[in-house]
Amino acid sequence: MKHISILGSTGSIGVQALEVCENLGLAVNALTANRNIKRLEEQVRRCFAVLGPERRPHWAVTAEEGLYHSLKTALADLDIQVKAGKEAVCEAAALPENDMVLDAVVGIAGLEPALSAIEAGKDLALANKESLVTGGKLVLSAAREKNVHVLPVDSEHSAIFQCIQGLSGPEEVEKILLTASGGPFYGKKREELELVTAEQALKHPNWSMGAKITIDSATLMNKGLELIEACHLFGKGPEEIEIVVQRESIIHSMVLCRDGAILAQMGAPDMRVPIQYALTWPKREPLKMPPLSFQSLGKLTFGEADEETFLCLRACKRAFDKGGLYPCVANGANEAAVAAFLRGEISFLKIGETVWSAVEALRPAGEGDSLSQILEADRMAREYAAERFAK
Ligand code: NDP
Repeated sequence: MKHISILGSTGSIGVQALEVCENLGLAVNALTANRNIKRLEEQVRRCFAVLGPERRPHWAVTAEEGLYHSLKTALADLDIQVKAGKEAVCEAAALPENDMVLDAVVGIAGLEPALSAIEAGKDLALANKESLVTGGKLVLSAAREKNVHVLPVDSEHSAIFQCIQGLSGPEEVEKILLTASGGPFYGKKREELELVTAEQALKHPNWSMGAKITIDSATLMNKGLELIEACHLFGKGPEEIEIVVQRESIIHSMVLCRDGAILAQMGAPDMRVPIQYALTWPKREPLKMPPLSFQSLGKLTFGEADEETFLCLRACKRAFDKGGLYPCVANGANEAAVAAFLRGEISFLKIGETVWSAVEALRPAGEGDSLSQILEADRMAREYAAERFAK
């Protein structure tokens, strides 16, 4: 029986991951959240009721130190360790009982727990793309050193990973075709996006996800982050990755092989598939899914990503070309900008402008091979962004 800890269990990926673990009969060691301790309590109680004594969690963690007492009180009648703080999330990632850790924390906050899991020799199912964008070099060299697997959960990267399973080596891949839905504002021009509200941007046409990634999908920052993530995971340069808009999110990504064959992974947009594949790889286990009917789908629609309108995508490419800590700068500026947009403090277009100008203006020191450099570049980018919002 595999033992898993789920970091970010109260989020969109975390909730679906728990459902997958329950269906697969996996043991869940630790659940972690940030502020939503009500949902965390519900999850712990459900696990105790449904998973039984051998598979129920032993740790419940909130990243917010100030919420320790509330969580402790809420779970007082259960035999479970309650912990709080950033370090406790990292400790949960490194628990000796873990066979695997699912990192479904949002933002750069997922980086240190990912490193802790790897340092402890645990395989990592990685939904948190920001950890590869900000610390790809660090994460993947640590994984090589510790001989652990980093298994993609992001649907596009899982699709690419699934497509290359049958190939005999990376040299057989000529190109990666990274698909994008285009988001809710596909086809719109900048002047049409000036008055976009958070409510409009939070309506993704195909996926139901956490707020930050939904905004990233609307600005196409998500595709920029994914491009960088794919470069790290599959050892390709951006020129070997083409972004293809696939409006219905049925093709989750493709690889073009050197003999001209194109392999695609398809299915209904449902994150339980890539989550489960990361947890069961190299095996496939049954998963109850509503059938996908190509007849009723009728057609698939393709298009091109518009980097003039969606500056975030252009900024991510520029950041990756500049190398070193620039992707981390792009990410930090974006995290600050998305939070400000959701608070109603800046406009939708200001998100892209902020990310682009941070990448152009800042000079982060170092190549991104230490955590302190990464955290400093992130801090610098957030500070820069906050100054721009005030103008
Ligand atoms: P959500 O916002 O729904 O959930 C994020 C989770 O992280 C929550 O459990 C949250 O706790 C926790 N969290 C937030 N801040 C911190 C912090 N500072 N320290 C520790 N934990 C924290 O995000 P999603 O589930 O949508 O996304 C998670 C990750 O997966 C992101 O990196 C995203 O890009 C990636 N991803 C998501 C997909 C999706 O379908 N949702 C698809 C592909 C990738 P709390 O609930 O208490 O706030």
